[in-house]
Amino acid sequence: MTETQRILIQVRELLQSFETSVESVSVREKVTALVPAFDAIRELGKSLIPNGLSLSARDRLLAYFLLYPRCVLREKELAIVAGISEWARRVRELRVQHGWRIVTGVTVGQMIAVGDLEDLGIGDASLSVNDYMLADNNQDRDAAYRWNIANEIRRGSQGGQDKILKYLRANLGKPVSGEELSYVAQSSEWARRVRELRTEQGWPISTKMSGNPSLPVGVYVLERDRQAPSHDRRIPDGVRRQVLQRDGYACRNCGWSHDMWNASDPRFLELHHVIHHAHGGLNESDNLVTYCNVCHDELHKREKSG
Ligand SMILES: [Zn+2]
Ligand SMILES: [Zn+2]
Repeated sequence: MTETQRILIQVRELLQSFETSVESVSVREKVTALVPAFDAIRELGKSLIPNGLSLSARDRLLAYFLLYPRCVLREKELAIVAGISEWARRVRELRVQHGWRIVTGVTVGQMIAVGDLEDLGIGDASLSVNDYMLADNNQDRDAAYRWNIANEIRRGSQGGQDKILKYLRANLGKPVSGEELSYVAQSSEWARRVRELRTEQGWPISTKMSGNPSLPVGVYVLERDRQAPSHDRRIPDGVRRQVLQRDGYACRNCGWSHDMWNASDPRFLELHHVIHHAHGGLNESDNLVTYCNVCHDELHKREKSG
């Protein structure tokens, strides 16, 4: 007999004995009579995870997330698997201290609201407020270290947007999660602020939707510590995506693409106006070409000198 079957029998017996207490007039007697069955059902939930009864709540949650990566999991499921009322705190520990990329419906909703996440790539864009998803089944080993940086920046006196930029710059070239940015900024408007940094201030911040389709859902990367030239800002996201897609997410001059990224030569992709914006060139796809920042710089230098 499996552990689950054994507990199930116990639950049935406890519910049977509860039936006799239901006749009681005392509310308190009925409530206390239900306690053992309630506890047994919790044990039943824990036993559903392989070896679940010998694991901690946190490890049961992790085991469940790893069984169903990139699936939307409802909070009641997590409560059952964890078997404790403080399960949400354990999920947070997995995310923050242990670096598992668990995105919450709240964060995803905030990203969708500013247009940074249209296609979740999971065939289901309905990650609602109380849902969770493990976006990537590789553990991010630097998470605990980053957490210290996040706390330090969060305590500063700057505005939310400056804190976000500071945090991204401290993690140059590395993926950070929307959860982290939201925490650092202490604002539900964090996703909008990130978007402004990218579109209005020209910081090369990539997401799955804007610039780098190989990134997991809910992740941002500041690709280089430099703002794009002002003539290349304000290209609508839809157009940007269209051009990048058309050019195969690679530099049209040298062929550089994100899978060639390395820390000693941290390139990123920019869009160049064939007819310059200042000369009436439009922000439309047939006036835009994808270049890596190195080729883009060279092109402008040549134009200046020639
Ligand atoms: Zn290039
Ligand atoms: Zn240009």
